[in-house]
Amino acid sequence: MSAARAAFEDRRWAGLPPAKRKRVMQAFADQIQQHADELALTETLDMGKPVRYARAVDVNSAANCIRWYGEAVDKVYDEIAPTPDTALALITREPLGVVGVIVPWNYPMIMAAWKIAPALAAGNSVVLKPSEKSPLTALRLAELALAAGIPPGVFNVVPGFGPEAGSPLALHMDVDCIAFTGSTRVGKQIHVMAGQSNLKRAWTELGGKSPNIVFADCPDIDKAVEAAVGSIFFNQGESCNAPSRLFVEASIKEAFLEKALKLVPQYQPGNPLEKSTVMGAIVDRTQMDTVLRYIDSGKKEGAKLLAGGEAAEPVKGGCYVLPTIFDGVKNDMTIAREEIFGPVLSVLSFTDAADVVKQANSNIYGLQAAVWTRDINKAHGVARALRAGTVHVNQYDEDDITVPFGGFKQSGVGRDKSLHAFDKYTEVKTTWIRIDSPLHR
Ligand code: NAD
Repeated sequence: MSAARAAFEDRRWAGLPPAKRKRVMQAFADQIQQHADELALTETLDMGKPVRYARAVDVNSAANCIRWYGEAVDKVYDEIAPTPDTALALITREPLGVVGVIVPWNYPMIMAAWKIAPALAAGNSVVLKPSEKSPLTALRLAELALAAGIPPGVFNVVPGFGPEAGSPLALHMDVDCIAFTGSTRVGKQIHVMAGQSNLKRAWTELGGKSPNIVFADCPDIDKAVEAAVGSIFFNQGESCNAPSRLFVEASIKEAFLEKALKLVPQYQPGNPLEKSTVMGAIVDRTQMDTVLRYIDSGKKEGAKLLAGGEAAEPVKGGCYVLPTIFDGVKNDMTIAREEIFGPVLSVLSFTDAADVVKQANSNIYGLQAAVWTRDINKAHGVARALRAGTVHVNQYDEDDITVPFGGFKQSGVGRDKSLHAFDKYTEVKTTWIRIDSPLHR
């Protein structure tokens, strides 16, 4: 912590002209791209995702995020308030100081980049604590940052377990902000720790149980089926925004599920190191046991198992779960209420827009949602009524660094990505200057 504080206080980074910070951030992104294969392989070995996606999605998104915030930093202007001729009020954005960042294991590089990129670009020092399950790429990022010219002490990585390394960061009196991505359970503790220490700024990106709503007048059923199945099984279902509650209007549910079941074999888990694999390994045995416990609860509470429902072992000794679909799920069942964080889809049914909005919103989470209909009035009305940080209409995969990402309700506080993220890592300062104009004496 003292290295981060010293680097901030002597302004070796914050004091650089924004255009210079921009060039260093771009060099950092270049370093990531130059080491893309190595980083992708490391990510896969560490947490089990298919190497093809680690390379095509994780590495590229992380590099793009760092480049984008670097690019932005010399284009964000400060303001002058409308003031009388006798005074001038400057409204400037200043870095907070030392930013603590705690991230999970499902997208280790991307989750880190979403926070360290705006925090560093704004001139802060950063201390990053990766998940104990996937610390390797974070350590490599710190080396690449140094090679790119980020001064020593500005970007630090402290690996370790939550209680031993994460809590001290959240409680530290010399940390000005804690930016956390992880479970809602730990996110709540983060806000408490921020409050009981130095009232540091606390931002949280937490769990989800996203509803995906398909009306009978959906414009393209095949696309809706592909998105429903592909999005829940991507990254082994270990995505905070996975559309894990699928609501299909009763009149088309049977036809929809028939098509969905035909796609399931494409998602058979396989060795993540093989280029053809689309669904890899669950991060570890603890998480696999959690997923299997949820599957058991679905069976016991009366949901109808249509596919999967058990572990697999395409690689001896590995942790794999078959792509699983439950039909006949009721919104009060455990598998509809709680985040599973595995390849398990719960299918529910509804009768009309009011019914589905009520069901979709009856959940502690509010991260993402989707609505499929060719009726613009219904799409807009339902999208406005859904309590979620992002609502997709007639697709589920659009994504871009330019748009904010974050949750309503217990899915967290604050937004990652887009220019809005700068608000999290800067303080607004007003400076009044007296103008002793000869015209007003
Ligand atoms: P987790 O909450 O168990 O751990 C997340 C991080 O917090 C890890 O680095 C962990 O070491 C640390 N931690 C654990 N206990 C701590 C403590 N007492 N004090 C400080 N730090 C502590 O979550 P996870 O299992 O790593 O990740 C899965 C969760 O992350 C899911 O709920 C998922 O929805 C969520 N997630 C959310 C987003 C989002 O953007 N909303 C993105 C990815 C993942």
